[in-house]
Amino acid sequence: MSLLELTARQLRDGIAAGQIKSIDAVTEVFGRIDAHDPTIGAYITTFKEAAMESAFAVDARIAAGNPIGPLAGVPIAVKDNMCMQIGSTTCASKILADFRSPYDAHVIEKLTDADAVILGKTNLDEFAMGSSTENSGLKQTVNPWNTTRVPGGSSGGSAAAVAARLCWAALGSDTGGSIRQPASFCGVTGLKPTYGRVSRYGLVAYGSSLDQIGPLTRDVTDTALLMNVIAGHDQRDSTSVSESQASVPDYLADLEEPIQGLKIAVVSHLNEGAETEVADAIGAALQVYKDRGAELVEVEMPHFDYAIACYYVIATAEASSNLARYDGVHYGHRTTDADDYVQVYSKSRAEGFGAEVKRRIMLGTYALSSGYYDAYYLKALKVRNLIRQDFTKAFEQADCVIMPVSPTTAFKIGEKTADPLQMYLADVYTLAANMAGVPSVSIPCGFDKVGLPVGLQILSGPFTEDRLLRIARMYEKQTDWLTRQPPL
Ligand code: GLN
Repeated sequence: MSLLELTARQLRDGIAAGQIKSIDAVTEVFGRIDAHDPTIGAYITTFKEAAMESAFAVDARIAAGNPIGPLAGVPIAVKDNMCMQIGSTTCASKILADFRSPYDAHVIEKLTDADAVILGKTNLDEFAMGSSTENSGLKQTVNPWNTTRVPGGSSGGSAAAVAARLCWAALGSDTGGSIRQPASFCGVTGLKPTYGRVSRYGLVAYGSSLDQIGPLTRDVTDTALLMNVIAGHDQRDSTSVSESQASVPDYLADLEEPIQGLKIAVVSHLNEGAETEVADAIGAALQVYKDRGAELVEVEMPHFDYAIACYYVIATAEASSNLARYDGVHYGHRTTDADDYVQVYSKSRAEGFGAEVKRRIMLGTYALSSGYYDAYYLKALKVRNLIRQDFTKAFEQADCVIMPVSPTTAFKIGEKTADPLQMYLADVYTLAANMAGVPSVSIPCGFDKVGLPVGLQILSGPFTEDRLLRIARMYEKQTDWLTRQPPL
């Protein structure tokens, strides 16, 4: 059997037991990357030599009987907006195309400490702004299930890499859905943890009050495995939550235990906004839970519909401030065609940023400008609070909320690029979790009639990822969606 058939957990256990060599996994996956990534376009860079060295080191440690970490020898991909000393950290932007980070992000240190093997950096929408990875300034990524379709975004490279078996698991970042929506489009599992659960140190900032790093994996067990490695306090991120505020559980410990008396909140008016095939798949998934004894509770989330408007004010405002540092002086691309220092700034930015990033910087700068701050940014923050309260009330009545991840399955490449507003609407179901800071997972729950995956979104209260993953696992065990693979 090919090692690529194994989950990360199975591979790790085989390596730890000395039955599998990490170097064999790395060799096999690079064979597959060489064969298929020219079509899929998941990776911006790969680190073959470094990966082989790490794999040899893990194998040697195991042979010598030395202790090993929880991801020993497992090949993992990382979205290219997380700083790493080796290679470049591009954010899929021309402005950072040659940027070499002098330090590793917190999550990279955690992966390395856990003895994972990092294969390379994956493609994304430039600075994580987008829902299809078509905004990448460097390359195109396609959906492994159908190469005329987008992989979703912005973590489209990570999702495509996991789906196409070009790695065993990957990290993504989610500001408004960028882990969950591509997970849904590519038929993999993607978790956005609670804001503050995973350190953002070394994650290139987009919307700082919304950004969270999380895993994209083949199944829920692998998500739990990765969370065990990346979750936890880091003093270098002031929004990282301490152990005393919310301790980090062992996400694998009770994963197989179903939740007794599970109560699921549903918001009927929301599900109606999805395509019929998506809505039907969600309905069927709810039935699976009911058959397992769960109770459905109808709740209202009256402010949910304002999430898009609110997000595109807050995220763009924060982006305009975060992206001010790319000016051709501090670091990044500098124009060679400037007569004075004002032109250094303006031309470096004009040449380096793509259209969507410029659009958002303009929107955000406008929203923060004097006279408009109160009308837009402050108002959006107030609405954000109301959305958060909707969730608080829902979680008083139920253990989780279930809804679609996206109103559609993966759309065609080019279908929405001419109309940014249509693209923004693709995020209607995912943004609210970032507004409220709550954890949310996307798991496969079926296929549409042209064979594209549908995702189920499950949301729960702050810092309850352990229960959230148990709820997801209950469903996963009852279904066989994971046995299907993209036709490569
Ligand atoms: N699709 C959303 C956007 O375009 C979310 C992006 C993200 O989560 N990084 O901003």
